[in-house]
Amino acid sequence: MAAPWENWARTQRVTPRRVERPLDAGDIADAVRRAAAEGLRVRAVGSGHSFTGAAVTDGVQLDLDAVRRVERVLPLPDGRSLVTVGAGIRLRRLCAELAARGLALENMGDIDHQTLAGAISTGTHGTGARLRGMAAQVAGVRLVTAGGDVVDLTPDDEAFEPARLGLGAVGVLAAVTLAVVPA
Ligand SMILES: Cc1cc2nc3c(=O)[nH]c(=O)nc-3n(C[C@H](O)[C@H](O)[C@H](O)COP(=O)(O)OP(=O)(O)OC[C@H]3O[C@@H](n4cnc5c(N)ncnc54)[C@H](O)[C@@H]3O)c2cc1C
Repeated sequence: MAAPWENWARTQRVTPRRVERPLDAGDIADAVRRAAAEGLRVRAVGSGHSFTGAAVTDGVQLDLDAVRRVERVLPLPDGRSLVTVGAGIRLRRLCAELAARGLALENMGDIDHQTLAGAISTGTHGTGARLRGMAAQVAGVRLVTAGGDVVDLTPDDEAFEPARLGLGAVGVLAAVTLAVVPA
């Protein structure tokens, strides 16, 4: 048994069977396959800022804190850029990485402690009638499926929509590609 886990608001508490800390998509796939072989459920957890039990599991909890590398920055002709980044990155660190490149998120919520994966998986939004929520800024995801396959999805794929706002129930996000704007 792992140590008890509770969310930020202390409204949810659980003791997972174990916590795994993968370093990349391959590690995540291995963890999913191991859990399946043991008949355990898997749940990725972000920073635990959801007020609900969305991130709760008594099976295998995946902590993606180490999956936070900026993999690629691709400038687009319209001034935006496509940035591919590890899904476990905290928003604070993501914003700093973007700022260092003269870039920024289009919009975000009122704190920056959340992970990118947790924020998009729950439809986290900022304010502004014309500014979109974070999931709407997603141009692609790398997903580890329940079968342990690693797939890259774009808006052309049928599975893209459920995967980018999946409440942790549509596989584990390993990387996210965001369309970002000039700072
Ligand atoms: C003080 C505070 C302020 C907030 N402000 C706002 C706000 O301004 N606007 C707003 O919309 N919301 C706001 N929220 C809500 C918060 O943004 C969301 O709850 C968000 O999900 C938190 O991200 P997290 O990293 O903590 O995810 P968690 O709460 O840890 O997880 C959320 C969900 O994402 C899933 N998940 C996590 N990582 C992965 C992954 N790698 N792959 C697949 N699924 C994954 C989990 O399984 C779970 O279902 C606020 C919350 C707090 C506590």
